[in-house]
Amino acid sequence: MRIDLISLFPDFVAQIAGHGVVGRAQERGLLALAGWNPRDYAEGNYRRVDDRPFGGGPGMVMLIDPLRAALQAARAADPQPARVIYMSPQGTPLTQAKARALADVPRLILLCGRYEGVDERLLRAEVDEELSIGDYVLSGGELAAAVVVDAVARLLPGALNDAESAAQDSFEGDGGLLDCPHYTRPVSHPLGEVPPVLLSGNHAEIAKWRRQQSLGRTWLRRPELIDREALSKADRRLLEAFLAEHAQAEQTLAGQALAQAAVSADAAQDRGGPGGRASPDSGQGHGPQGESGHEA
Ligand code: SAM
Repeated sequence: MRIDLISLFPDFVAQIAGHGVVGRAQERGLLALAGWNPRDYAEGNYRRVDDRPFGGGPGMVMLIDPLRAALQAARAADPQPARVIYMSPQGTPLTQAKARALADVPRLILLCGRYEGVDERLLRAEVDEELSIGDYVLSGGELAAAVVVDAVARLLPGALNDAESAAQDSFEGDGGLLDCPHYTRPVSHPLGEVPPVLLSGNHAEIAKWRRQQSLGRTWLRRPELIDREALSKADRRLLEAFLAEHAQAEQTLAGQALAQAAVSADAAQDRGGPGGRASPDSGQGHGPQGESGHEA
């Protein structure tokens, strides 16, 4: 796969993408990245790439021509047609499914805006789609492009080693659930124990536990990802058992918190400090009313 970046800071994305899985994908020849700086295609002594917006208002807008020339150069660098994507907070949200779809496209050009954005006419003429990485505004499209490069590159066949298989990840697999919790050595740690089922060697039980954890934490954290009615009978049973256990654990925690609060209150009372019942002659323990409202 080939990804071209149109950016005022093309090295920025290349640097981010030079490490880990994405770096390895490039080393393995699965991904080729190239950067194109619109400033290299700008004219005049100052090589301007932006100008003030018509109609007034704050900020600057990226000029059509330097961007268009950079795009043309990028397109011409490879005969394969490219899908042009403008990184924009106004675009379609990036999802795992979208990343999977993009990983099947042989060639992408990612256009990174800066300032207030890009002249709308260039977007209409040259861009196939707009993509957002979330409902917040970045100062430039480079980080967003790097997110796309990373999410897509790790899905290219051969990019991940087996141990890192993407099939188990959140949003992947049966039902698009969140991933289950993971543990590694040591088995015992002051922060807690590894769930015994993971040490049992019983693969069927381990798979069942993982499925249950995925169902449970998806239900608790991202309920909109689960259609409870559409779950299989087995999944529904797993989820119900998880939720019952969770409710019990919450109750135990609440009980412990209450007990702890009672102990703290007793301790405060013994000290005659705030929160405790001060002895009548201690002069302590009055709230604001006690200080201001008792002149009569
Ligand atoms: N005025 C624009 C708006 O409100 O839609 C925001 C411009 S932003 C300061 C500058 C550039 O950052 C954009 O042109 C876009 O390329 C990029 N950008 C900002 N937020 C983004 C997001 N959530 N997803 C993708 N790209 C984003």
